[in-house]
Amino acid sequence: MSYAKVLSVGLAGVTGQLVEVEADLSPGLPAVVLSGLPDTALNEARDRVRAAIVNSGQRWPSRRITVNLLPAGMRKTGSAFDLAIAVVLLGGAGELPLAAFDGVAIFGELGLDGTVRPVRGALPMVAAAAKGGISRVVVPIGNAGEAAVVPGVEVKAVDTLHRLVAFVRDGAPLLDPPESGPETEPDGPDLADVAGQALGRRAIEVAAAGGHHVALLGPPGAGKTMLAERLPSILPELDDEAALEVTALHSVAGVLPPGGQLRRRPPFQAPHHTATVQALVGGGSGLARPGAVSLSHQGVLFLDEAAEFTGRALDALRQPLETGRILLRRADGATEYPARFQLVLAANPCPCAKPAGDQFCECSPLARRRYIGRLSGPLLDRIDVQVTLDPLGAAELLAPHSGSEPSAVVADRVLKARAAAAARWSEQGWRTNGDVPGAALRRPPWRLPAADTKALRTRLDHGSLSARGFDRILRLAWTIADLDGRHRPDGDDVFEATQLRTGIAP
Ligand SMILES: [Zn+2]
Repeated sequence: MSYAKVLSVGLAGVTGQLVEVEADLSPGLPAVVLSGLPDTALNEARDRVRAAIVNSGQRWPSRRITVNLLPAGMRKTGSAFDLAIAVVLLGGAGELPLAAFDGVAIFGELGLDGTVRPVRGALPMVAAAAKGGISRVVVPIGNAGEAAVVPGVEVKAVDTLHRLVAFVRDGAPLLDPPESGPETEPDGPDLADVAGQALGRRAIEVAAAGGHHVALLGPPGAGKTMLAERLPSILPELDDEAALEVTALHSVAGVLPPGGQLRRRPPFQAPHHTATVQALVGGGSGLARPGAVSLSHQGVLFLDEAAEFTGRALDALRQPLETGRILLRRADGATEYPARFQLVLAANPCPCAKPAGDQFCECSPLARRRYIGRLSGPLLDRIDVQVTLDPLGAAELLAPHSGSEPSAVVADRVLKARAAAAARWSEQGWRTNGDVPGAALRRPPWRLPAADTKALRTRLDHGSLSARGFDRILRLAWTIADLDGRHRPDGDDVFEATQLRTGIAP
């Protein structure tokens, strides 16, 4: 027999796709030809597979070998096809009966010594196999935990090519996935730890309830980072679909902890201001690595010292903020990843960032305006909640922490407010108040009584409030009413919304 075929799985973005790996062995000058749009890594597969087969004690077929990957139109990336290529070569050479692989998908990277190494993206690959009607997969032992997360698929694992060959020839056992880890993820930091800072606490509660982006301005020691880190603790847990998507993204990035379980908590990412654009949005050679914008999908992206990020880095956030996705264009094709995050910016009010009360800041008003001006424009425009926090006084810092409301209590209000908003906007397809276009809130039936927006309209007329700012305040007012369990915002809600909007820019 000189023809053989097995099933494997490839990745397009965060979506897996079944791939047929076929081999034809014909008499002629010994050579290996790979076809089906292979990238560089796949060409390197030729050398890895040859070494792995020989070093596993198998004979390398001394014939003209053509390996083809289907569908031809799909871009194949990375080293995950190694194991399937090795199996199909041995099958085609008549060294290995392949009946055991009927209806089985196989993937894994091969080391030169024949070890089977884990690959990035195993979770979405196994999910794609399941969706394609495959009920059994053979994966690297290092991926077995995450593969076992996918329901409806029997997962078997291998550590070496030799083990797989021995299984087919002699019925030697394959490996089982490890026992899954504890059911609950470790608790993140809790709002009960934050003393004082009523405005900051309120800002992130409203942000969580309405899905609003947040900017926190204030001197060092105002608790900006503490507050941002606690936003995930008051957001609802991810539902099944979101959890699978988030876990899949972390799988493609290769940052899933071993053990394998779905991520139920909204992720939190805090890239440093020196992070490259690539670290922020993703990229790299081979299988593009998701960046911070995708690793914070369905969670929180926190930019501390936001004014210190480069203009290029901040600009790169515009596309995901607008579309909830990031398209990575590269020479060998484009990859798209989900990137719908809640943005939290924190910034000092001026470049010197001297702790207030310690030394007086000597920055000129112009220097201060310029510094914050780096954030302005399209980015700040998208941020509904913008507040300036005061430094915590000694009295607040030394007060017993027991008075602070814990995250669980706040999370309960947030959950109810989100449910109310989702029900109200269900016909329009908006999930949170943060999704609602401003114009919708200025028209019946959602327009508020003139008396409740009088102060806002006056400021609009005087030019101390932009039309966009006006819309943002209306969105916040609806969230405040939702948090309070009322059907419509009143004048007081509009007033509080104004306080939560006017901290940084007019
Ligand atoms: Zn200063």
